[in-house]
Amino acid sequence: MSLDTFKNRMADNVRGRFYVGDQCLDCDLCRAVAPENFARNDEGGYSYVNKQPQTAEEEARCREALAGCCTETIHDDGFDFDWAAIPPPTPYHLRPENQTARARLREQERQHDCCKHKKDAG
Ligand code: SF4
Repeated sequence: MSLDTFKNRMADNVRGRFYVGDQCLDCDLCRAVAPENFARNDEGGYSYVNKQPQTAEEEARCREALAGCCTETIHDDGFDFDWAAIPPPTPYHLRPENQTARARLREQERQHDCCKHKKDAG
């Protein structure tokens, strides 16, 4: 994706190819599709990569989650960046300026039910 996208990734992501950016709606699709690799931050109400895929099947599931994420906030370019040199930002849910944006995203998801539709269709 881009350096800006990587800079704004969720702080909980473990280092590696896949990571979740800052537009997660907490729809649960990735956690349902790839439960070994995605987890939920319960306090913040969002997903993050808690384990990079270690098998071909896990990688396929991560790619399926990436393709199904309605906000396109799962990325697979983590090897392009130096995780140590670019520290994770303040956790999304702890930045006051992001509360309005998160509320708007959740309202969009509630109205359009986009991720649930993809999950049900799959
Ligand atoms: S599929 Fe995307 S929006 Fe849905 S929980 Fe996962 S990262 Fe968040």
